[in-house]
Amino acid sequence: MAISIKISKTPQSRIHLCDFENIEFGKIFSDHMFRVDYVDGKWMEPSIEPYGPISISPSLSALHYGQAIFEGMKAFKSPNGKPLLFRPMDNVRRLNKSAVRMGMPEIPEELFYEGLKKLVEVDQDWIPTKDGSALYLRPFMFATDDFVGVRPSLNYSFIIFCCPVNSYYPKPIKVKVEKKYVRASTGMAGYAKAAGNYGISMLPTMEAKKDGYDQIIWTDGKTHEHVEESGTTNLFFVLNDKLVLTPILDGNILEGITRDSVIKLLKKEGYEVQERDISVSEIIAAAKAGELTDAFGTGTAAIIAKIAAIGFEGHDYVLPEAEQRKVSNWVYNTVYQIQTGKIEDPFNWVEEVK
Ligand SMILES: *Cc1c(COP(=O)(O)O)cnc(C)c1O
Repeated sequence: MAISIKISKTPQSRIHLCDFENIEFGKIFSDHMFRVDYVDGKWMEPSIEPYGPISISPSLSALHYGQAIFEGMKAFKSPNGKPLLFRPMDNVRRLNKSAVRMGMPEIPEELFYEGLKKLVEVDQDWIPTKDGSALYLRPFMFATDDFVGVRPSLNYSFIIFCCPVNSYYPKPIKVKVEKKYVRASTGMAGYAKAAGNYGISMLPTMEAKKDGYDQIIWTDGKTHEHVEESGTTNLFFVLNDKLVLTPILDGNILEGITRDSVIKLLKKEGYEVQERDISVSEIIAAAKAGELTDAFGTGTAAIIAKIAAIGFEGHDYVLPEAEQRKVSNWVYNTVYQIQTGKIEDPFNWVEEVK
């Protein structure tokens, strides 16, 4: 199936206004966006148009009932200046999993994928090349019925826009084990990148910030004894620089593409990686015994967010200095260098945009 995309380019690029040396995450937008609407059961003609405001009505269904989902991915530049995408089809498939959970239509994979590639091609000059930087891509879909009433919308919009970004968490973060609030529980939509999952995290995170933390470690809804994830990252814990633990995909946590990449790379490098249920008490016991040599979150935005300290029941368990983190330093460099085409890509994850 050939996808034909109507392209209307901006008459006036804003790229000269972007200071690529100092980019604030998520505040600068490239010249164009991709858009396709779903009307009366059909996907309409897709377009690439100048990035800018869209018109919506006050009764827009997504605003009231939360049928809104998103993805996060990045484009990079290879050493010879070619735009590269990292495992893009995994994001395409994951968006559709989120769509199914939220009672939304799936977008044909080809339509998403071709639109994404074309957009990156059109805005490729916006891909920053400074170390640690990338063009962050934000595909999202939301319900557009003008209708008050709880039922699945009949109309939707799917849009992709781009933000040039530098690294996301410049320094290691302090995280607090959350024992009051819950992000997701069995049967809910924790595995979906659904807007509401992030809305409900705002207050708990604000409270953690008041206590001096950057982020929360979510725990399970029934007992608060089991570690789930943190912010928009999946969690990894390293014991004695050898054994790597990460929570198993139980439906409550997001199935991170960075998570999967990190697991595969660590295994290939000879580490023992266990995907399993992890209890808060075993992590705290390991920290007390000095065996917790590294801990980090993984996600597209940060790639690796090192954890400086874990707060639990009023005590902070401090981890080794950032420079001593054998596993997280290796994994960050390896992932980023694969993404930017600087080293061999053993799993064929990187795709050049032609
Ligand atoms: C997006 C996200 C992640 C990380 O997923 P990646 O595919 O690695 O970017 C982890 N947890 C949550 C809650 C997320 O939203």
